Amino acid sequence: MQITPEILQKLNQIIGETFVFIDQETRNHYGHDETEDYVFPPNVVVKPANAHEVSEILKLANQYKIPTTPIGARTGLSGGALSIYQGIGLSMERFNKILNIDEQNLQVIVESAVITQVLREAVAEKGLFYPPDPSSQGSCWIGGNVAENAGGARAVKYGVTKDYVLNLEVVLPNGEIIWTGANTLKNSTGYNLTQLMVGSEGTLGVITKIVMKLLPKVNHNVLMLVPFYKANQACEAVSAIFRAGIIPSALEFMERDAIDWTLKFNPNISVEVKPEIQAHLLIEVDGNYPEILMQEAEKIMNVVEKFEIDEILFADTEDQKNALWKMRRSVAEAVKSNSIYKEEDTVVPRYELPKLLSGIKEIGAKHGFKSVCYGHAGDGNLHVNIIKGDMTDDNWETQVPVGIREIFELTVSLKGTLSGEHGIGLVQKNYMDIAFSKTHLELMERIKFVFDPNNILNPGKIFPDEF
Ligand SMILES: Cc1cc2nc3c(=O)[nH]c(=O)nc-3n(C[C@H](O)[C@H](O)[C@H](O)COP(=O)(O)OP(=O)(O)OC[C@H]3O[C@@H](n4cnc5c(N)ncnc54)[C@H](O)[C@@H]3O)c2cc1C
Repeated sequence: MQITPEILQKLNQIIGETFVFIDQETRNHYGHDETEDYVFPPNVVVKPANAHEVSEILKLANQYKIPTTPIGARTGLSGGALSIYQGIGLSMERFNKILNIDEQNLQVIVESAVITQVLREAVAEKGLFYPPDPSSQGSCWIGGNVAENAGGARAVKYGVTKDYVLNLEVVLPNGEIIWTGANTLKNSTGYNLTQLMVGSEGTLGVITKIVMKLLPKVNHNVLMLVPFYKANQACEAVSAIFRAGIIPSALEFMERDAIDWTLKFNPNISVEVKPEIQAHLLIEVDGNYPEILMQEAEKIMNVVEKFEIDEILFADTEDQKNALWKMRRSVAEAVKSNSIYKEEDTVVPRYELPKLLSGIKEIGAKHGFKSVCYGHAGDGNLHVNIIKGDMTDDNWETQVPVGIREIFELTVSLKGTLSGEHGIGLVQKNYMDIAFSKTHLELMERIKFVFDPNNILNPGKIFPDEF
């Protein structure tokens, strides 16, 4: 794709030349996210400031059939923000304002490039709670969360991003600007375009403003780390906790290597782990009444003590809690710093977790790869990191994709699906046939066509190369 001087001049006219970049360094910077080591630089990076400018850019892209990729904070793990056909990289970074925290209605109106944690802290100052908390919350943006329907540790009790999105301002690929719904908690008015946009990975429109619902702030929590001698028993304990009548506010699984590598990555955090321990569950309950929380924590202890566990660690202070959460949230970075890896984001009904874990290990043994699993076990959402270690390049290129296909086939056979929260993007798209029939994929393709007949917006994502 060539960006001609004429197109560049038009982009300069739309947003001003200070916000149009064609130098290699900037293009490379916006050409990668957190997905493996992929780099796909766009030909030009633009940084519009408002929906009108996005609209003019998309009209131009349609006129010249230029692939255009919305770019958030680039923390994505499925390659969604990569400009695989070059063209225009549409960085949303100037959409960085919280426009209104509506304390009367418990809502917030926010632009798409506000950092998730900044939003969570701003509403917390007003006594309000925005629960979705991806482990990347310190760097990812709320627009990227909406585009990926991001989850996080608290999803198990409070739901994922989609559960908080009421209304969206979206620039459609043809440049029209619409609001998708209404700022109401209920809405049965026509097709639900708001939820169609959520999780559409930048392929149907560019999200510029988001209206989200909030909850009242929750004031207390109890956090415990439970070491299991057998990883499969940790997975079995997950559904047992719910069956005992408790809904934890977080229920996270970490395999042994995940903990070891994370502790090595964070030398300031110290947790003693006996050599025989295979996995941990990090369990939190929250609420406003400490006595009730203690009763719930005791119930959880009664459940997990039926399994082979070592001594439970209770986080007594805020510092201890922060250290345990830091440990959990830095697993992905720690694994990345240890070896080349591929991350798959499997999800199954939670009772099937033990079968998923043991199946993954069998598939790894068959194809000669090691995996490190961790994730939001309460949601049945297991991140599978496949480690290159000393595997040959040849086996890495040939055997691993076969193994990944088998992992997804297993996931779907357990009534699960390919991605719980990271999206399909570039790296999972050629596995979509496992989860969906041709009819289903064609329906999705026709929806894409209605929104984007020239296929200019984030082409090459979600849909398999052939189906
Ligand atoms: C260490 C680490 C931990 C993580 N933990 C979690 C986790 O717990 N839960 C979870 O769900 N994810 C997690 N992620 C993945 C990632 O942070 C999320 O997918 C996040 O939602 C991506 O947001 P972003 O702003 O970085 O978007 P990007 O990566 O820049 O983009 C993601 C997709 O959204 C599209 N997009 C971005 N902004 C817009 C917009 N304004 N309009 C339309 N489309 C847009 C892009 O085109 C792309 O397809 C983690 C990532 C890392 C690196």
